[in-house]
Formats: sequence, C-alpha cells, structure tokens
Amino acid sequence: MVKRSKNPLINFKKEIQQQLYNLIRYQIDSYSDYMKTRMRKKYEDPDYRAKVKAQQAEYRKTPKYKAINWNPKRAERKRTWRSERPEIEHAQQRAYRQSPKGKQSKRIRRQRRRERQHNVIRAYTQEEWNKKLLQTKGVCPNCHKFVGVDKLTLDHIIPISKIWSGFQYHISHVQPLCHACNSGKKDKVEISTV
Ligand SMILES: [Zn+2]
Repeated sequence: MVKRSKNPLINFKKEIQQQLYNLIRYQIDSYSDYMKTRMRKKYEDPDYRAKVKAQQAEYRKTPKYKAINWNPKRAERKRTWRSERPEIEHAQQRAYRQSPKGKQSKRIRRQRRRERQHNVIRAYTQEEWNKKLLQTKGVCPNCHKFVGVDKLTLDHIIPISKIWSGFQYHISHVQPLCHACNSGKKDKVEISTV
C-alpha cells in the first residue's frame, strides 16, 4: 500500500495517484478481457480457424521460422521417424515422378544419358531451349497441332544415332516436336527443317 506521510497534501496527492492508477489498470484489464473474449468468439468460427491455421502453416515454412525454431534433436527425431516409414518416402517419390516437374526432370536425365552414350555435346543452354519451346506457343511446328508447351518433346533434327562422335548440338540443331511427330520420325533425317 501507499506509504502515508505526515503532510496531508502529499497524502492527498498519493491518494489521487493511486486512484488514477487503479482506474487505468481497470480500463486496461477490461479492454484486454474484452479482446480475449472477442478473439475466442471469432476463433469459434470454423472458416476463421482454418484461415488462421493456414497462415500459421505458411509461416512455419518460412526461413525465418526455421531459423528461430531450428532444433537438431527434433530434426533427428523426424529423420528417424521417416526412415522407419519408407512407404511415406516412396509415396512422395512416386508423386514427384508423376508430377509435371518430375516427368520433365526424368526426360532431361534420359536425354543427357543418350548424349553421353553417343558422345555428342550439348552446346545450348536450358534457357535457350525453354525460349524456343515458348516461341511455339504449344503448337507442334511439324503437324501444326496444338498440344501445349509441356507436351512438346526435344527432337534432334539430325538424330544422335546418325551423327559423328563429338558433334556439338547447338540450339538450331534441335526442335520441339509433339510426341506423335517425334516418335513417328524415328531415325529419319529431315533436311528441310535444318
Ligand atoms: Zn506434331
């Protein structure tokens, strides 16, 4: 409690200060109670709850959250938990392989392997190829059918199997073709498109 002084004036001042403090304290407490109730009520709404949870999940993916909450023991536990359940890993790998990104990655790896096997050199960049792909707007240059950019496959105008070892494939030596045209072409050399 407030220490009383011999001077009544000081006592009066202290009394007023205490009452003012109590009043402000009360206001703050009641406001905070009011906000708590309000938030609790708001949180009872399933839509709002789902929104908040989604936001939290999104935040947990950020580098900031990971930096603050990085726990080696928990990471280790997670690794162990996952290694004891290979089916989850396999399911994820399968999903990746079946996704457009996974399929593209597989196509690229297969292409690189063929290039290595026949000892030919890729003298164009992935960016150059992507640019060429986008220029077609998804239309096959051979049959003029629209198949979509992601369905166009890389075709070596002079097939890898027909060219000498050490040949450098520049961007002008490859073309995007639809799957039907590419597999129909097999090992034929189409001089007209070179
Ligand atoms: Zn075609």
